[in-house]
Amino acid sequence: MWLFWLIVVVVGVWLWVSKKSKSTPASLSNNSPEITVSVPSNYSRGTTRVDLEETENGGYNIGSNLPLSLTLYGLDKNEAEKLATAMQQDQGYEINDWFSHLVAQKNVRCKELDEWLAKARPQFQALIQKRIESSQEWSSASELDKADMLDEFKEGAIFELPLRPGFTDIAWVLLDEEPADITVDDALLEKFKDNPQLYNHLLYAFSAGSKVQISAASDFRRKAFDELAEKGFMRRGQEIPIEDILLSMTLKEMQEIAGSDAPKKFSRKANAIEFLKTLSDLQQRLEKAISFRSLFQLRPIDGIDLEEISKAYAYSKEVARIILRTLRSNLNSQRIKNSAKEWAHDEGYELNAEDCCSSCRQQHGKKWKRLPQKLPPFHIGCECRIDYA
Ligand SMILES: [Zn+2]
Repeated sequence: MWLFWLIVVVVGVWLWVSKKSKSTPASLSNNSPEITVSVPSNYSRGTTRVDLEETENGGYNIGSNLPLSLTLYGLDKNEAEKLATAMQQDQGYEINDWFSHLVAQKNVRCKELDEWLAKARPQFQALIQKRIESSQEWSSASELDKADMLDEFKEGAIFELPLRPGFTDIAWVLLDEEPADITVDDALLEKFKDNPQLYNHLLYAFSAGSKVQISAASDFRRKAFDELAEKGFMRRGQEIPIEDILLSMTLKEMQEIAGSDAPKKFSRKANAIEFLKTLSDLQQRLEKAISFRSLFQLRPIDGIDLEEISKAYAYSKEVARIILRTLRSNLNSQRIKNSAKEWAHDEGYELNAEDCCSSCRQQHGKKWKRLPQKLPPFHIGCECRIDYA
């Protein structure tokens, strides 16, 4: 019997203790200093400080406390603060769409990027020229072959640049694909400022030009296309000129629509369309064969050159990408620096420069016993990082 009472007492004490410990907020508990408390939940992924200063000429210097601060022009105070806060909270990926759209809409410029471009563009052109001059095929090559060779020369030139962003695809767009007018998309971007994802879908739709596009109900773009149609950017179903719908069909499909009424086997689209248009019940026949609800077509937008817009957006996207990558790299180094202050890492540190430019790669694998003073990023778009050895 005593054993029974002992168990009752032990279980009772345990229940009382566990209930008490649950009702005591961690923040009030003095004997558990290892628990971090009173930190807002959105700070939970790390709070490495990112200083923000307004410059005399209306720009914002982001990260003056970090290895390589960036000076940005074209954004307002709220936007600069949003960017710095997001970086501080390790949300660089989450703000990607927002920031790309902002860079495109406000034509944001980055001083460090512009300085690199001012140096690298002439170097890039000279390296291409050198390859053209030393090519034996060039002078006798056809225009298409020249275009092909030029792409090859550009790639080689990018690799040969002494200092460049680690990602060669970013470097290529920045060096070679700057649009003539980066403000060409501003009016359109203004309409999508609260919905950058929808703008991305519109850009996708641009790539089809005036062709009819089929987006079935199960297609992941369908919701976006519905919304674009509602907003007047796309025609849908019955609104699309019947001739355009026919143009989007294959000869075989048109033959099926014509059925036994066809005078002969169609050999060319133009003849097929001409014949089908003479059928008085064409609309009904088409409705039987295709779902009109799933047909979409871009509506022409007055005064807007779609190709230039896509180009401008692609360029801005890379500007945004290189800024965010450089800031993230700063934060990574800063975190290592902060933790080095708290605990000595006896094995030392090592530089990983494998994915960067030739000047950085010279330092690849360099080791230090103590964290060095100069930490990556060493330049805009630098892909170096400090690792624990
Ligand atoms: Zn580099």
